Amino acid sequence: MGIPVIEQERCTGCRECISVCEPNAIEIVNEKAVIDYGRCYGDTERCRACIEICPQDAIFEMD
Ligand code: SF4
Ligand code: SF4
Repeated sequence: MGIPVIEQERCTGCRECISVCEPNAIEIVNEKAVIDYGRCYGDTERCRACIEICPQDAIFEMD
């Protein structure tokens, strides 16, 4: 169980992760996805939605 971390070099800004994030914890800043850890509940509720959908494998889970 861990928090999602976005590898900025891989992110294409496609917004697919945003479309699946229920608490609206992801936004695009300068064409790259950025996670608001105040909203993300990945750590407590084991949400991996953004990690699973990212077509670039740009999001990984960090313990
Ligand atoms: S789904 Fe992946 S590539 Fe697309 S915006 Fe999110 S982190 Fe970036
Ligand atoms: S782990 Fe879940 S809540 Fe956190 S940013 Fe990804 S989709 Fe949103």
